[in-house]
Amino acid sequence: MICNPSRTAALGQLDAFTSIAGLYARDRNQVQPHHSSVSRLSPAIRHRLISEEEVVTAALRVHPFERVEKFVQEVYWRRYWKSWLSLRPQVWSDFLRDLRDVPDHPRVQCVEQAQSGNAVIDYLASELVSTGYLHNHARMWFAAWWVHEARLPWQRGAAFFYRHLLDGDPASNTLSWRWVAGLQTPGKTYLARRSNLEKFLAPTLLESLSDGLAAFENPNALLPEPVSKPPITQSDWPLENLTPSLATGLWIHEEDLSVENSSLGRQSFSSIIVTGDAATWDRYQFPTVKRQWLAAALHDAATRSELRWEVPVSLEIQEANEEAVVRWAKANALDQVAAMRPEIGPLHDSLPGLRDRLAQAGVRLILLDRPEDRRIRHFASGGFFQFWERLRKTLVEGSGKKALSRC
Ligand SMILES: Cc1cc2nc3c(=O)[nH]c(=O)nc-3n(C[C@H](O)[C@H](O)[C@H](O)COP(=O)(O)OP(=O)(O)OC[C@H]3O[C@@H](n4cnc5c(N)ncnc54)[C@H](O)[C@@H]3O)c2cc1C
Repeated sequence: MICNPSRTAALGQLDAFTSIAGLYARDRNQVQPHHSSVSRLSPAIRHRLISEEEVVTAALRVHPFERVEKFVQEVYWRRYWKSWLSLRPQVWSDFLRDLRDVPDHPRVQCVEQAQSGNAVIDYLASELVSTGYLHNHARMWFAAWWVHEARLPWQRGAAFFYRHLLDGDPASNTLSWRWVAGLQTPGKTYLARRSNLEKFLAPTLLESLSDGLAAFENPNALLPEPVSKPPITQSDWPLENLTPSLATGLWIHEEDLSVENSSLGRQSFSSIIVTGDAATWDRYQFPTVKRQWLAAALHDAATRSELRWEVPVSLEIQEANEEAVVRWAKANALDQVAAMRPEIGPLHDSLPGLRDRLAQAGVRLILLDRPEDRRIRHFASGGFFQFWERLRKTLVEGSGKKALSRC
């Protein structure tokens, strides 16, 4: 198992990884059968069983900043992508439109079923489908082969990853595929080279997959039509506030499964619902492995919430969010429903419909952001290293100082 679907398991895995995080800069690119040189925490971070801040603080508790800077930087790549997309949500809707419009390609199915005829690609497709995980370098090789060698539509590759990855994320996934295809950084594509595979694939894998290496010998970039940088179209989300005297329920969803550790953790609620985004699971045909992981993570969040708030908690994973939340709000005579704001992606897309239906029932939906996300969101106005320089300063000089002083 890559990362068990509970907060306790994720914290345990974080603790174990922290002790070797100082070696991350040296070893992180090695693609080994059990991926022991990377944390494998991404499914837990993606669904916020644990937060980026918890991961970074744990690493800084044990190591000086300079020793784990590379690891901290990678953790914040995720937040960079999330922030970047939230400032330019049209990139997500354009992706969905293109995905609908790209013609069917018979080879896509063959590759997804690990029948591409290339040993490396078939190994990686099997690993993805059976475990819900791929190492970062493997994701880069696979995507580069898909786009530049097989010349398949990148949108279909992104959909394949999104469907199977336990950490499948609208921002990290879509924008990484765009980067490989040369759309994210205009004029720059990512090509997978044989020498790179030979350097980073574990010797046992390299030997068994050697038949597939020739395809990476002389890669030729498929250059996209020239593109301009997507403009920022969405500035800060409006600040929304709960009215204390009203009957208030808490909605917990799979975008943030440790709400008790947010500002909502200090509020009182008369009722709680935890929902899976069943409509999205069906639309994107999530496989059983992923559905089971998500269901267990949601169950874990429900159990923790019951302990924290000591009120009834409903768990709903069969029905569309909208139906389940509206029915629960009515049944509990709520005036307002509080939730963490889902980031850009399918759940976010469903919010206007949910808000309208709740409003028809006289219930307000109040969405809150974690201040730490809100504070750095606008840092993503340009490229990652610009984002990182601004963040690094605040990590070292501001809140990071607290973590450093605890060392
Ligand atoms: C084509 C492609 C698709 C990807 N799709 C996703 C996706 O859907 N969801 C996702 O979480 N990541 C995605 N990534 C980024 C990265 O591959 C994974 O986050 C990482 O491999 C997760 O493994 P880990 O937890 O062992 O990472 P570690 O190396 O241990 O890193 C720690 C954490 O930092 C974050 N992180 C590390 N590298 C990156 C990165 N390049 N981009 C964003 N965050 C990063 C993750 O939260 C990760 O858990 C994609 C990368 C590529 C090239």
